[in-house]
Amino acid sequence: MTNAPPPADGPALMEAFRRHLHDRGVPATQQRQAVAATVFFAGRHVSVGDIERALLERGDRVGKATVYRTLELLQSAGLIQEHDFGEGFKRYEPLAARGYHEHLICLRCGRVEEFANERFDRMSALIAEEHGFHHHHHRWEIYGICPECRRRDRAARPASTPLERGRAR
Ligand SMILES: [Zn+2]
Ligand SMILES: [Zn+2]
Repeated sequence: MTNAPPPADGPALMEAFRRHLHDRGVPATQQRQAVAATVFFAGRHVSVGDIERALLERGDRVGKATVYRTLELLQSAGLIQEHDFGEGFKRYEPLAARGYHEHLICLRCGRVEEFANERFDRMSALIAEEHGFHHHHHRWEIYGICPECRRRDRAARPASTPLERGRAR
């Protein structure tokens, strides 16, 4: 049914990025590589804020403009994908060799989960066909409340009444 997509191959993506820069005559500076690495090795969908924090923790001094410029380079190389999950900021994830996958987004904590589902893919192609479109690609985004937030909601519920407690016994 639904499966988690394969993890990103960080080293291969770094190599592809260096090749892309070289082909375009753009220097593969230490800063650009540091930005790319934070996205390739994050293992999740990172915001620009996440990237800046990761760079700081590693002791890399990279300006905001370089972060944005590098993200543009990575996107034009087809190595990362940009997402707008309606949070007021963008998120990024490594793309190459991972194949298409879809996202579940928690409205409360912003957690993003991934899944791949063959039926979704087939359905998308069929819907496109019904409308006379040739299917190129698609994006499904499911918004809801994640299991952890639902658990927290249940725990935070006001204490049950004496009557309920009596029944539960
Ligand atoms: Zn949540
Ligand atoms: Zn994803």
